[in-house]
Amino acid sequence: MRTEFKNEAFVNFKEERNHELYEQALKKAEAELGKEYPLIIGGERITTDRTALSINPANHSQVIGIVSQADAQLAEKAIQVAAATFETWKRTDPNERARYLYRAAAILRRRKHEFSAIMTFEAGKTRVEADVETAEAIDFLEFYAREMQRLSLPQPLTASAEEENELYYIPLGVGIVIPPWNFPLAIMAGMTTAALVTGNTVVLKPASTTPVIAAKFMALLEEVGLPPGVVNYLPGPGGEVGDYLVDHPLTRFISFTGSRDVGLRINERAAKANPGQKWIKRVVAEMGGKDAIVVDSEADLDLAADMITMSAFGFSGQKCSACSRAIIHEDVYDTVLERVVERASQLKMTNPAHADANLGPVIDEKAYNKILEYIEIGKQEGRLVLGGSTGDSNGYFIEPTIFADVAADARISQEEIFGPVVAFTKAASFDEAIQIANGTDYGLTGAVISRNGANLEKARREYHVGNLYFNRKCTGALVGTHPFGGFNMSGTDSKAGGRDYLLLFTQGKLVSDRF
Ligand code: NAP
Repeated sequence: MRTEFKNEAFVNFKEERNHELYEQALKKAEAELGKEYPLIIGGERITTDRTALSINPANHSQVIGIVSQADAQLAEKAIQVAAATFETWKRTDPNERARYLYRAAAILRRRKHEFSAIMTFEAGKTRVEADVETAEAIDFLEFYAREMQRLSLPQPLTASAEEENELYYIPLGVGIVIPPWNFPLAIMAGMTTAALVTGNTVVLKPASTTPVIAAKFMALLEEVGLPPGVVNYLPGPGGEVGDYLVDHPLTRFISFTGSRDVGLRINERAAKANPGQKWIKRVVAEMGGKDAIVVDSEADLDLAADMITMSAFGFSGQKCSACSRAIIHEDVYDTVLERVVERASQLKMTNPAHADANLGPVIDEKAYNKILEYIEIGKQEGRLVLGGSTGDSNGYFIEPTIFADVAADARISQEEIFGPVVAFTKAASFDEAIQIANGTDYGLTGAVISRNGANLEKARREYHVGNLYFNRKCTGALVGTHPFGGFNMSGTDSKAGGRDYLLLFTQGKLVSDRF
């Protein structure tokens, strides 16, 4: 058995040497920009006439890759290949399946900057953000490999004198994996490897803004010897091939992470049994958030300001766990607001490839326009106290933006903006603050900054979110340490990176043998 799981350490960017190494990786990644990426189905490379460009959100004119695009016919082919491969892959020893993940983790660890640098170009991640993400991808591989080995051991059952009983966790079949762009390596790799290590085969449809890092991960899986057809790389427009993949009668499950609208659409379509379909499709859907940090009257106000600033503006607020609402007790409201404004105005917004960048661009033009629209709405709904403008027009830069005195039912308090925008709301009491925090359709993450133990206990009971944090930020869940997933319209609470997660991709088979 392996050593116990431990989270991958982050690179220390206070050391100059690590910046030098990162710069070498950026140079290497830059030399590969503009390459063509074919589909990969059953190991076969398929180049299509129709292609899409992946571009650098910090510099529109820089093409990261030219990516072949699937259509319904190729989606059909991918599902057929995945279904045929399932017949052998499902019989593969779980320890062998786990070893592919351990090998991939070892290579990823050795070449971490190489993967991180691609995310700096393709997703606009700063060095620290990209490194944290690569570490998370390594964690998922290491964690799920161990989890599969644990699940393949004899499972504890009540002993019986006359029978031998065994419970096996067997795979489901063909899984459609549809990840988002905001953690284009970690979430994509976690969703894909959880499905394959449990013995399923996968059609992986990467997000259209970040297909190149997914192709790089696909190459890693090939490098470690994963048999062809276990994972099939199928980039293409989600709105076009998504329905085909979801509706297909051979699709056994859909593992989705993304927006609420798309998640609900998938859930609805998957519920319908199509001709030739022999099962109820399983849907794992992790969706959006409208996460809040509550600050009590008795609290470390510097800590509160630090945590709000980090949670609201890390990766320009483009995290499902980002703090988009700061709900502050009226006694400390002005002080906390002032301190967050002070901290946020020091953030350096620039090309994330630069060593000193704290804040990069938002992902694409659609996101940029949507966030700017919300900023206009915010000007009607609150008092703009910081930001609101754009930056370098070569990229999709939007300043850290703070609105004060926003009502709890305002649109910017209720709708997911997914950008560097935070709304401050004043609460008359701690109870009211929790009530406001719970007052959205979502329920993903939340944090409470308080020194009052009784209030923290109250929040423990009443604050209805999947991941609740006290006296820390509401972002930054670690694999194995903070299993992740939300309530209500935030999704199916799958608890990725936790001990229950792999069960979602298996079915339990009990064999009872009476002598
Ligand atoms: P999105 O627009 O819903 O896209 C997610 C994925 O779904 C992409 O691969 C997309 O493909 C695909 N897709 C689009 N339309 C589809 C359809 N009709 N059928 C099947 N697939 C379809 O979300 P996003 O903008 O990438 O990601 C941001 C969202 O993800 C936010 O709401 C965020 O909160 C959420 N998120 C949640 C978690 C969590 O754990 N709860 C984690 C990260 C992100 P294309 O790219 O080709 O459109």
